[in-house]
Amino acid sequence: MKSLGIYIHIPFCKQKCLYCDFLSFPEGREQQALYFDALKKEIELSAGECKDYEVTSVFIGGGTPTYPEPAYIADIMEIVKRDYNLSKDAEITIECNPGTADYKALRLYRDAGINRISIGLQSARNEELMALGRIHNRKQFEECYADARQAGFDNINVDLMSALPGQTLRDWENNLEYVCGLEPEPEHISAYSLIIEEGTPFYEMYGQDSSAVQGASEKNNGKGYLPLPDEDTEREMYHRTKEILEKYGYSRYEISNYAKDGYECRHNVRYWDCGDYIGFGLGAASLMKGVRYRNTPELPHYIEAYNATRTEVQELTKEEQMEEFMFLGLRMVRGVSGDEFKKRFSCEMADMFGDVIAELRGEELLEVTDEGIHLTDYGMDLSNYCMAKFLL
Ligand code: SF4
Repeated sequence: MKSLGIYIHIPFCKQKCLYCDFLSFPEGREQQALYFDALKKEIELSAGECKDYEVTSVFIGGGTPTYPEPAYIADIMEIVKRDYNLSKDAEITIECNPGTADYKALRLYRDAGINRISIGLQSARNEELMALGRIHNRKQFEECYADARQAGFDNINVDLMSALPGQTLRDWENNLEYVCGLEPEPEHISAYSLIIEEGTPFYEMYGQDSSAVQGASEKNNGKGYLPLPDEDTEREMYHRTKEILEKYGYSRYEISNYAKDGYECRHNVRYWDCGDYIGFGLGAASLMKGVRYRNTPELPHYIEAYNATRTEVQELTKEEQMEEFMFLGLRMVRGVSGDEFKKRFSCEMADMFGDVIAELRGEELLEVTDEGIHLTDYGMDLSNYCMAKFLL
């Protein structure tokens, strides 16, 4: 039986963070109730098309899935368990923001079968949290983390974000040390850099181009905004992340993701492996049998039509599937397997990408092994440059 991942999107947040361009917004209880009705129907009605799959991961993301009433999530989990071939050891994750889930709620998620929680801390410094427009402070994170442990979660991710307004290298190092010093320490840490996305308040504050943050920060210094770190500091933060997390026993397995042995996020690895997944809820994306789909991002339309809003976006050609397989696979430290490439596409990786592989190898950005290819540390630093080379 082929394996499948399920993504479930919960688009509600208490308030919008200043940097956020995800499909999320504050909505009242009435809209939330209508949304969950539609979502439940969509999940029920889609079970037939997934009957030949074994579901090995479920990811409930957002938005803030722990913001609406927890009973909604428990109802959804009941449907998934009842109507889908959920494997016994499936990884089932919920995203959570501190301040939105107490012990009782966390216990309910755990009892519903959710076995992994991803907590959005972003920073351990209250000044940085305020600058980001987050709803919580460090103390609320500590309560949430302790409650999650007590509720029985033994697989916890903590999200951190670097290159924040006003952040120094030392501040970032302290944030990493703080998370590694939690007791017991988290099994997984995601460490992303802040990206200034168009359409967000940060874009108004920090300028037009996130690649020009140094210029942007200088430009805005006179306006009273905390400046963003310059590019050199940002690079240094990136390097120190790996050094510090490795010191505490975390291995980098993807550009921005670190885990203790055996705790890599299986759902995200599925995305990077180009495995099949189905997305439920507002704006959710799916990739099944080489075809990409997306649900409507319009809330009234989704509430009205749920199951009929999934539209085919693109049937990927063989070349497009090869490109994706390469540049998503190269995000991972283990890289791309030559055997897997041949199994999927019935041709040798070297026949399709031999020239690029030789070029990147010559620049010491990529290594070739008996199993396949992977980026070097230097290649990971220049991952955008390397991945662009694999576009056919
Ligand atoms: S909590 Fe997450 S999804 Fe919600 S506004 Fe903040 S960054 Fe966006």
